[in-house]
Amino acid sequence: MTNDDSTAAPLIDGFGRTIRYLRVSVTDRCDLRCRYCMAEHMTFLPRAKIATLEELAIIAERFIARGVRKVRLSGGEPLVRRDVLQLVERLGRHVGTALDELTMTTNGTRLRDHAVVLRDAGVRRLNVSLDSRDPARFRHVTRHGDVAQVLDGIAAAREAGLAVKINMVALKGVNEDEIAAMLRWCVAEGHDLTLIETMPLGAVDEDRTDRFLPLTAVKERLDRSFALTRDEGGTGGPARYWRVDGGATRLGLISPLTNNFCDGCNRVRLTTEGRLYTCLGHDDHRDLRAALRDGGIAALDAAIADALMTKPERHDFRIAAGAAPAVSRHMSVTGG
Ligand code: SAM
Ligand code: SF4
Repeated sequence: MTNDDSTAAPLIDGFGRTIRYLRVSVTDRCDLRCRYCMAEHMTFLPRAKIATLEELAIIAERFIARGVRKVRLSGGEPLVRRDVLQLVERLGRHVGTALDELTMTTNGTRLRDHAVVLRDAGVRRLNVSLDSRDPARFRHVTRHGDVAQVLDGIAAAREAGLAVKINMVALKGVNEDEIAAMLRWCVAEGHDLTLIETMPLGAVDEDRTDRFLPLTAVKERLDRSFALTRDEGGTGGPARYWRVDGGATRLGLISPLTNNFCDGCNRVRLTTEGRLYTCLGHDDHRDLRAALRDGGIAALDAAIADALMTKPERHDFRIAAGAAPAVSRHMSVTGG
């Protein structure tokens, strides 16, 4: 079995989009229970269904051999998977050669312990989720989280020399009055900020419609307090970016509901079970772990080719009162 075939064909989907970005959900488990993401009582995957880190590494390295330039580890909370740092170290060896970037999205609760190891393995930037800096509000949104622990994790990341982008899900009636203050704090601390519309992924204990806040309205409000100039330097991803007050901070808006971003989509997602989802908003997938186990790299390539031909042109998220989620799996399964 070989995984270092530099002549392997690039990854092009049925609409001519070249895939350069792989997200890997290394676990569906988490130490928090954010209300828009998970129900309070979740049923997680049985351990027998979870791919080994060796399997995830082989699959990720196949994508890298075929032209993926950026890998993001996510979850669930990636840092609750005990052996995840082995995967970080293994994939980190490709940074600077086949890989431009290895990154992680984390809730930050365990960063104090892991920031230096992540940096030493080749990680240069992290996305850290922080929906509120207010302790009571943070506890409410996450159901039991301690914001001081996350802020300390962010400080540890910065001390280790990692760049930090804050992810904030904009929630009507929950944190909408804190968005300008969060941006001001990010400018002062030297973080970027990405605001995200709540997406209808998986059943949670509340109706997301009640909390949906269109980012078009948020942007209009921010325009009154900040000079926001469009920054075209995106990554082919879903976010659109603005420079804040002519400084270093970038504001990103991920608005799948009010602004479809699918035309330039360059990403696919690997789950902790080893399944490949080619769209966050569709249930269609291929079992890459089964292909690898049954037929090695050749079968893996065939399954990837098959998946790419069925990558949908666009998601069809809609937010409507009382409507079922667009897909039944949670963001934590596909890796947000
Ligand atoms: N646990 C890590 C964290 O919270 O950063 C990584 C996984 S989490 C699923 C990744 C990102 O997805 C977070 O920024 C989170 O706020 C966001 N997210 C989760 N569920 C979402 C939903 N239904 N709509 C929009 N964003 C969501
Ligand atoms: Fe956990 Fe991240 Fe989902 Fe919050 S958003 S419950 S931290 S996976």
